[in-house]
Amino acid sequence: MTQQTERGGIPVGISACLMGEPVRYNGGHKRSRYCQDVLAERFAFEPFCPELEAGLGVPREPIRLVGAPDEVPRVLGTVDPSLDVTERLDEVSRAFIARHRHLRGFILMKGSPSCGLERVKVYHANGMPSHADSGAFVRALRRHFPELPLEEEARLNDAVLRENFITRVYAADDWKRHVEAHPSYHNLLQFHSRQKYLLMAHHVEAYRELGRYLAEAHDRPLEEAMGHYLQRFMAALARPATRKTHTNALMHVFGYLKEALDGETKQDLLTAIEDYRQGHVHLAVPIRLLAHYLKRHGSEYIRRQTYLDPHPYELGLRNAI
Ligand code: SF4
Repeated sequence: MTQQTERGGIPVGISACLMGEPVRYNGGHKRSRYCQDVLAERFAFEPFCPELEAGLGVPREPIRLVGAPDEVPRVLGTVDPSLDVTERLDEVSRAFIARHRHLRGFILMKGSPSCGLERVKVYHANGMPSHADSGAFVRALRRHFPELPLEEEARLNDAVLRENFITRVYAADDWKRHVEAHPSYHNLLQFHSRQKYLLMAHHVEAYRELGRYLAEAHDRPLEEAMGHYLQRFMAALARPATRKTHTNALMHVFGYLKEALDGETKQDLLTAIEDYRQGHVHLAVPIRLLAHYLKRHGSEYIRRQTYLDPHPYELGLRNAI
């Protein structure tokens, strides 16, 4: 499940300043060591700076979001408020999205009126802070590419959010290569079949709902069924799994071994799951043990579950949650 694309890495967009490009308003950058030193080994990053693309130049007058809480904020110059780049930013964002439907995720720079994912300050016209919103580029991504996994680079310091984002990127890659590239009901059902326990760990209601939806999917046009499934699936995965929801999924996976193992081995597995539930060990511990026994005793169906192996083991993501 964790092969990369033929191009040598999974295509993921990134705010260009995080790649060390000197594109910030003051000519600086915000190089991310984690992205460049760790993730770049797996991801083929495609940097983009919406403000540069909108022709604002470097250095440039800083811009900010301005508006009331119930309206779409405008993007205006901080020194000269008659500098209104709202439409220009929207245009270049939409053009970027149209050319980058192949992306599996986007890593964003926090706090930016263009790239900030959330909690970007919005000001009243009189210059006083009003409320918080998303940056203009993020707004366009959400509207025109809603299934694309998004995360802020700063939030990748949080082990749970990091694991969650990278899980979503690999799931999006699976979808792009196996369903979107070869659309069929069969491939849609196969995708759901191998993603079942990952989905269950994140959102048990979506797991049930999508199962029911797919049981009747043949009655709908394929494109509609794929679109609905993907939106719901990616939204469900965006909810980080907890120790409680992982424990539920682990117990279901354990159920596939019940018949094959002796009492002592089963007790070892249950102890590992309970230790994880109580926070004594990381998720990697029960998962490795389960995978070890499933390799010998599991059916093909359970061994193919992405839940056992959703991203490269070497990234160590499950050794931290
Ligand atoms: S945050 Fe976005 S708009 Fe600002 S410099 Fe970085 S890439 Fe450009």
